[in-house]
Amino acid sequence: MANQAFSGSPIRTNQNGYSTKLPKYIAVLSGSPVFLLDKDGNKIKEYACPGLEFDEASGDNVYVTDLGDIPSGTYTLKCDDYETEIKVSDKAFPALVNSLIKGLYYQRCGCELESRHAGIFTHKACHTAPAFYWEDKTRSKLIRGGWHDAGDYGKYVSPGAVTVAHMLYAYLLFADGCSDDLNIPETGNGTPDILNEARYELEWILKMQREDGAFCHKITKDHFAPFIMPEDDTDPEYIVPPSHTATADAVAVLALASRAYKDFDPGFAGCALSASLKGYNWLVANQGFIPYMNPKGLNTGPYSDTRVIDELFWACCELYAATEDETFKSEAERLYTYGRNVKEGPSPDSIFKEMLIKENEADAEFKRKFPFWHPGDFTGLNFAEFGWSNVAGLGALCCLFSLKEKAGKLLYDDLKEVVLKLGKDIYSRVISSKYKTALRPQDYVWGSILCVMNNAMTMLVSFLLSGSEDMRDGALCQLDYSLGLNALDLSFVTGLGHRSVQNPHHRPSGADGIDAPVPGFIVGGPNKQWTYPETKERLGDTPAAKYYLDETPSADTNEVAIYWNSPVIFVAAYFNTL
Ligand SMILES: [Zn+2]
Repeated sequence: MANQAFSGSPIRTNQNGYSTKLPKYIAVLSGSPVFLLDKDGNKIKEYACPGLEFDEASGDNVYVTDLGDIPSGTYTLKCDDYETEIKVSDKAFPALVNSLIKGLYYQRCGCELESRHAGIFTHKACHTAPAFYWEDKTRSKLIRGGWHDAGDYGKYVSPGAVTVAHMLYAYLLFADGCSDDLNIPETGNGTPDILNEARYELEWILKMQREDGAFCHKITKDHFAPFIMPEDDTDPEYIVPPSHTATADAVAVLALASRAYKDFDPGFAGCALSASLKGYNWLVANQGFIPYMNPKGLNTGPYSDTRVIDELFWACCELYAATEDETFKSEAERLYTYGRNVKEGPSPDSIFKEMLIKENEADAEFKRKFPFWHPGDFTGLNFAEFGWSNVAGLGALCCLFSLKEKAGKLLYDDLKEVVLKLGKDIYSRVISSKYKTALRPQDYVWGSILCVMNNAMTMLVSFLLSGSEDMRDGALCQLDYSLGLNALDLSFVTGLGHRSVQNPHHRPSGADGIDAPVPGFIVGGPNKQWTYPETKERLGDTPAAKYYLDETPSADTNEVAIYWNSPVIFVAAYFNTL
């Protein structure tokens, strides 16, 4: 296989195509001019290169330019002896939005994927047997459904809740950008397909709630399956005990769902809210926070999280939005104030004071036991984070776009200032990167695409709050990165682009006997921070932005995950409204 780091082309583009209404950035790695040719080969424009600049993350000398106003059409870009095709259209984003939502359909567990919906990427019903309780293996329960989380076949509540939240906010804020013709089993039922697909996971999250209100952390086997199809993965699955973070995430997303589905299915919206309140009451009554760790003998994704304050904050914001009960607002304000000034400690009035004290003890203990894994000193809530372990940004979305004036001075005016400042900081990284990617060399971590998309979401939120075109451009540049304007000249989305990922770490893609990968997945991308020894051996001192292998075993650089698709859906859905 060719090393992806050396495509040889001096032109890097958004391979999915450009909008007539937005800047059309390309990266050029040659000092020669670039010519834009029409389909008959006539020269339309010429772009001079004023000088290449050194990009620290990739080690490339590169220059990014905007192609400017171009009417819809297919064109060729020519530089030196290289040529590459680009598409320009009034609607450049439907393929991206649709493909990434459909990717989640391909992750459906517990049902058959039929050819009329799945094309050639079918599989039989999988994981249909009752799962055993980890702590008492004589007991079992049938919990079918949900999405396979990532390259593996596990199902985890926190990642699922966050993925659904990105989709529900995409719908609530950018409904016109969430196209509704995905050819999934529910298509045409009167509910938008983005809500149909998200509900498949929500129904499973509801089944993960225990009688006492807590949500179990995950259902997985005790080890990762080999690269086999899901229906052949028949070893026993286990229902793993609840965690505070999974419960708070489920509380938040179910309260959010009660708003999103209210007009389409009031019965489902009501069920979601009851489950959310029941989960909240469990959190109030059970404050002995212990970060989830895999029990001995269970070796699947831990999704361990030493901080629960951000999940509690998000949950309180969503419950206030869903119920208008001021108790939730007051608690969200107390958590916010503590999260902004951690030195003062949790407010004595906080409903969750005991849990927040336990959280600090648990974090200190974690730091003692695992100094190398510890994420660093607690500096408070980070509203530029929207991923599975840090959900403060999702609470911010609720305050700034759903509650608005109802959020009040602290949770609207103050929070807005904080978010705008974060947006500016991130935009300064777009400017420092000569590829306009808002990542510093040290940000190329496992799943660096989540850092890219956290940054894109923060800049998009800043644009929506301020109208700053720079912020919108910054967000657009992160989509360009995902789709090929990068040091690898590679679209990180399977099935989109002339040079896209071919060998994702994704069991069905590896086991289905079809050459092409299952379409509609974005991979984690370059990772020089937490890297397999084999990857280090292969790539040595390769620059961070090129620390990537398009090879199936490379989970550290080439895995897929539901919660990497979903922030791209959120950002692309906005651009799809233009
Ligand atoms: Zn399955």
